[in-house]
Amino acid sequence: MTGSEAPLRTRLWIGNEWADARDGATFATLDPATDETIAKVARARAPEIDRAVEAARTAFADDRWRRMNPHKRSRLLWKLADLVDANADELALLETRDNGKTLFESRRIDLPGVAQTIRYYAGLADKVQGDTLPVAGPFLNYTLREPVGVVGAIIPWNFPLSMAAWKVAPALACGNAVVLKPAEQTPLTALRLGELAAEAGFPPGALNVVPGFGHEAGAALVRHPGVDAISFTGSTEVGRTVMREAAATLKKVSLELGGKSPNIVFADSDLRASARGASMGVFYGKGEVCAAGSRILVERSACDEFVDALRGLAAKMTVGDPMAPTTRLGAIVSGEQLDRVMGYIDSGVREGARLVAGGERVKVGGCGNFVTATVFADVDPAMTIAREEIFGPVAAVIPFNDPDDAIAKANDSLYGLAAGVWTRDVGKAHRLAAEIDAGTIWVNTYNQYSPASPFGGYKQSGFGRDLGFQSALEKYTQLKSVWVALDG
Ligand code: NAP
Ligand code: MG
Repeated sequence: MTGSEAPLRTRLWIGNEWADARDGATFATLDPATDETIAKVARARAPEIDRAVEAARTAFADDRWRRMNPHKRSRLLWKLADLVDANADELALLETRDNGKTLFESRRIDLPGVAQTIRYYAGLADKVQGDTLPVAGPFLNYTLREPVGVVGAIIPWNFPLSMAAWKVAPALACGNAVVLKPAEQTPLTALRLGELAAEAGFPPGALNVVPGFGHEAGAALVRHPGVDAISFTGSTEVGRTVMREAAATLKKVSLELGGKSPNIVFADSDLRASARGASMGVFYGKGEVCAAGSRILVERSACDEFVDALRGLAAKMTVGDPMAPTTRLGAIVSGEQLDRVMGYIDSGVREGARLVAGGERVKVGGCGNFVTATVFADVDPAMTIAREEIFGPVAAVIPFNDPDDAIAKANDSLYGLAAGVWTRDVGKAHRLAAEIDAGTIWVNTYNQYSPASPFGGYKQSGFGRDLGFQSALEKYTQLKSVWVALDG
């Protein structure tokens, strides 16, 4: 596979310098399309997390960062976005090699989104402000909106650079210092982002990047008394551990977790459009998308026609080399993840769902972790494939009878991250938007994101929101109330 000319950054990024782990420990990051080791990356554990947190604390206390003119902070973020654009080819290639997603998705969808997110928060940096409040008595009362301090950001492997930007950009815009722990499977673009931040002019320690394993680097960051807030994106299971561990030091925690999002198709919708939307909703990004519309609820009278259409679309999801422009489904991020996906496919067959497309593990050029786009029909809501997050290209089509039944089935989940509704009836669309318990509702579309629009979960999909303006302030700042006696 080409692309080895892209510079690889493989050491810890602490205080704007490269560093090794104290004992020289490393771990391998693989290309899931070729099974090759791309690089050995320094492995942060507790001592390295101590160093990174110390660098962040020093930056946070240093006037160069703490007292930086907010217009300058804004300009630095803008410069970072420009550098992301200028290096987009290289970053996209790194992302695709590390994660296995198609180069089209990395280069045309993820990278522009990363730059846009950073620019959006460049606009926040000089608008972090408090209020003057009408209190009784001879007092002036006002609020100061201040940074939380040191933010530990822990992110998953499915959108490595996007998730980094979603957290790092608002945290820096609000004046925090950040220690970023990328997922063990995909550390490479985060390291390059750290270096680009220094090039943009961020002072040492404002952004530190510490690759490593969750139970070592991640856990040490969550426990560290020098970290004031944890901004976590990952699985619901690890989210629970993070919340428990953060309790010891009462850190501010926000959790963006998993999902089993319903995509609801009414018979009155444009069925070609809804089938296309449902296909992209579940197969985009190999289905390794937290908001994947993996439960496709279809009105019974339209089920046969819809399943036919979806089967046809699944067959067009060409599996192949992520670098090839014809590829729609790249490589599943790791062999372990592919084993999980195949286990779910087996459970669907075993529990009696009807496999109408895909379900096959394949190799491309004799190697890699690939699976064909998979559709199960006649799925019962009690089946494992209807309840658990698969995080792979597997759709479960579940029939429903009427809008009330659709709402009940949609809400019959521990998760509440996102939902789609396909109908030409505007009243029905708004009713479902109100009654479905999910942080995002898409009507006659799916998988739309904007830095302006808050994203996060209801129920066990977590709390706190990524993206958005107000949500960033809530997450990355704290309010101080100041009383001044006017008669003194
Ligand atoms: P994961 O296993 O929960 O890991 C997420 C991050 O947490 C990784 O960096 C991981 O490190 C780290 N981690 C693991 N154990 C830890 C511990 N004990 N303490 C602190 N950190 C720890 O999730 P994943 O498999 O990478 O990603 C898939 C999950 O992310 C899915 O459930 C998906 O729905 C969710 N997701 C949610 C959103 C959202 O916005 N709601 C967006 C994207 C993904 P290692 O990599 O080293 O294990
Ligand atoms: Mg990798």
